[in-house]
Amino acid sequence: MFESLSDKLDSIFKKLKGRGLLKEEDVDVALKEVRLALLEADVNFKVVKDFIQNVRERAVGKEVLESLSPGQQVIKIVHDELCELLGATNQRIQLSPNPPTIIMMVGLQGSGKTTTSSKLARFFKKEGRRPMLVAADLKRPAAIDQLITLGKQIDIPVFYSKEIQDPVVLCESAVRQARLEGRDIVIIDTAGRLHIDEELMNELLSIKTKVNPKEVLLVADAMTGQDAVNMAKSFNEQIGIDGIILTKMDGDARGGAALSIRNVTGRPIKFIGTGEKIDMIEPFYPDRIANRILG
Ligand code: GDP
Repeated sequence: MFESLSDKLDSIFKKLKGRGLLKEEDVDVALKEVRLALLEADVNFKVVKDFIQNVRERAVGKEVLESLSPGQQVIKIVHDELCELLGATNQRIQLSPNPPTIIMMVGLQGSGKTTTSSKLARFFKKEGRRPMLVAADLKRPAAIDQLITLGKQIDIPVFYSKEIQDPVVLCESAVRQARLEGRDIVIIDTAGRLHIDEELMNELLSIKTKVNPKEVLLVADAMTGQDAVNMAKSFNEQIGIDGIILTKMDGDARGGAALSIRNVTGRPIKFIGTGEKIDMIEPFYPDRIANRILG
């Protein structure tokens, strides 16, 4: 991921590094190239505009132009601003003081929601917790079967019903069952659709209102670039989300979604999916990603 952006920034900064004193024009030339590199990486144009403006304000300051290694200083500023863009610090999933912590997973079909629900359940199990999965996509029997299969693989119980028609009723029963069994985390895999529609949003809103999750996490496919960003914005406006899990980062060579989504939605990326296998999920650390991009 980020390979091409990383290569481009590397060659832009190589030119700066080798130089002694920098003039304002030199910074401007470099920033023009950075701007292009970000746009080519499919970063949202408004995000790019603000980013370049912030870097420029700091980089043409006295401190940089008069410092001994101005090139390095500019690179450091870009690094800091990249971290800021990505969310400054790692945002953890909040746990309820009164278990179970209910986590509601939302997102479009194909984004990786079911896989990610299971990955997250496994992640928590590894931390010594007792998660339960809930198959709440009642429209697609295949989705229920997929979650049951994944649950078996990782030895985590899956609450499901092929009789209950109402997802709210199902989720409420699941939470009751989790309490009875002493489960401390309940991860609800809700229905997805190919596109956002009113029926889906109404269903998700009813679940959210009745079940009162601690976290609503949006699963978004990084490979869909700015579509993922726009979709995340709509989900946040319509139902309210607490964080984002960006999947398929292993296939997203450009990185535009990762670099835009927090700024556009105001919600942090909490985890990233880095492959199809069940253990391929990582907490999202903005500084690590910034380091990866800057090589
Ligand atoms: P859902 O329709 O949103 O529930 O999506 P699924 O969980 O069924 O996932 C759709 C496809 O994306 C499956 O083939 C998953 O294996 C794949 N997938 C999910 N997450 C990742 C990821 O992080 N990387 C890769 N390469 N594939 C993923």
